[in-house]
Amino acid sequence: ATPTALMTGTGRGAQLGILIKGPQVLEDTRTVNAILLDKTGTVTSGRLEVTDVTALGDTHAEEVLARAGAVEAASEHPIARAIAEAAKHGAGTELPHVSNFHSAPGGGVRGVVDGAVILAGRPGWLENNDVSIPDDYRAIFTRQQESGATAIYVAQNGRMVGVISLKDTIKENSAAAIAKLKKLGLRPLLLTGDNKEVAQQVAAQVGIAPEDVFADVLPEGKVDAVKRLQEQGLTVAMAGDGVNDAAALAQADLGIAMGSGTDVAIEAADLTIMGNDLNQVAQAIELSRSTLSTIK
Ligand code: ADP
Ligand code: MG
Repeated sequence: ATPTALMTGTGRGAQLGILIKGPQVLEDTRTVNAILLDKTGTVTSGRLEVTDVTALGDTHAEEVLARAGAVEAASEHPIARAIAEAAKHGAGTELPHVSNFHSAPGGGVRGVVDGAVILAGRPGWLENNDVSIPDDYRAIFTRQQESGATAIYVAQNGRMVGVISLKDTIKENSAAAIAKLKKLGLRPLLLTGDNKEVAQQVAAQVGIAPEDVFADVLPEGKVDAVKRLQEQGLTVAMAGDGVNDAAALAQADLGIAMGSGTDVAIEAADLTIMGNDLNQVAQAIELSRSTLSTIK
């Protein structure tokens, strides 16, 4: 393709709300035949809602939510925003102060609230932090998973105190956009740090095959997923929004960031979709193909 045609394509992309890092990106887009889609914030809205708080033992549910919410208020993760928001509503007052905040991407958050060490995150991450999980909690987790919810475990001073369940909604255009990507010859795959049940339910609703779902994937695992597909000879696009997606976006042949995403994701990507709509991903692929075919 001539530089001028590519520049025109880039300008056309900007009109569509697709920011393209450089003219070369359009050339790479043309050969893509698989697309890994991050679930939360990419296929789903990422605007989660807390649907249930369960406290076991002598801690009250409000207290579990308030303390977890106080720690999550310092995190940018969609799960964190939802928990902090629910805690603020529930408390009706300011959340307690947090010190020693630490965030583990793909795991959870830790902070000190009212002199107690609070952890909120996925069960495996809590276990890595020496929290043992009683069987009755596992039962809650299984139940929540089966209902399609994401369950976040909360521990205080090393002991489990509760489970917070959240639900996300699929973006209105996701299913149509994925159908379009398939028509363009791309194989869609779902990639998420969330649990299998939730991931499979989302995949079924948007037309992704069950065998093309990668769930419970840690941030490092996202890069490996891209590499594995590349080793199979596929040219891989990856669309994501989180800090945890950045490395995979960089590894992909074509990295696509959602405009609502974190700065790290946008920096690592080749394309940024300003409207956060998966349809624009399909448009970007179409655009590159039309730009390149007019010049031939
Ligand atoms: P996704 O791939 O869907 O964007 P992440 O990799 O960001 O998900 O997170 C994977 C899992 O790690 C989440 O489903 C959640 O269990 C846990 N997690 C990540 N960040 C947080 C957080 N700030 N608070 C609680 N749990 C978290
Ligand atoms: Mg995400």
